[in-house]
Amino acid sequence: MTMVRAGSRRTRGAEPAAQALRLVKVSRTYGAAENAVRALDGVSLTLERGTFTAVMGPSGSGKSTLLRCAAGLDRPDSGIVTVDGAELTGGGEAALTRFRRERIGFVFQQYNLLETLTVAQNTVLPLRLAGRRVDRARVLQVLTAVGLGDRLGHRPDQLSGGQCQRVAIARALVAEPRVVFADEPTGALDTRSARDVLRLLQEAVRVHGRTVVMVTHDPVAASWADSVLFLADGRLAGRLHAPTADAVAERLAHLADAVPAGV
Ligand code: ADP
Ligand code: MG
Repeated sequence: MTMVRAGSRRTRGAEPAAQALRLVKVSRTYGAAENAVRALDGVSLTLERGTFTAVMGPSGSGKSTLLRCAAGLDRPDSGIVTVDGAELTGGGEAALTRFRRERIGFVFQQYNLLETLTVAQNTVLPLRLAGRRVDRARVLQVLTAVGLGDRLGHRPDQLSGGQCQRVAIARALVAEPRVVFADEPTGALDTRSARDVLRLLQEAVRVHGRTVVMVTHDPVAASWADSVLFLADGRLAGRLHAPTADAVAERLAHLADAVPAGV
């Protein structure tokens, strides 16, 4: 049974759908006429609730576009996206914003923290924007879980990159989203900080039943996921379950062979 807290809306209290994310023939083209780039070309996929999926592929293959379209940060030209059983495509801007705030968390490579706010203030920002009650004990719990329980009053410029990214993860998790999207979350971090971040994302899935989708170019980072989706030229180009870093690297090398340069 999912506990429905006082003041929480029914959509959040309701039992999560078995399919956390579904894309049906999603396409996205940037630019017009001879400059048009088909960043996503008819991508269909389904991710089960409580899974950790890595998305990999050559630079420019459409990974970030896929994530942005799936997270409602960008709109596909055609196709359908559903998150936690509810369609994200189709509504107006206000509906999309509400949808994102209620169901989606996002972690960016460059953290995207507000420099003038403290760790605690950055963390609760999504709750405040959604007009939700801020439970101080819950905020402390989330920040303690990412190892920052003693840094609540610090500002981003007083933190290391790894600590900033852990604040960003706390911010993504505090609203208890159904799906967390992370675009190269370890891309700017040293090996040890990267491992901390990957452990937290994996824990969000294994311990708390979240669904995480992470873009990465690092086979070691991808090996933390339950499966890897490969993209090439805006299309799905395979899937690897229970990935090892070696198997991922090998598949990536073949992917590069299969897509001739300059095409
Ligand atoms: P990846 O994350 O795999 O490197 P992207 O999804 O960022 O790839 O980009 C896919 C393709 O779409 C690339 O050719 C890129 O140049 C193009 N693209 C992405 N965003 C935009 C944009 N806002 N305007 C124009 N072209 C874009
Ligand atoms: Mg990208």
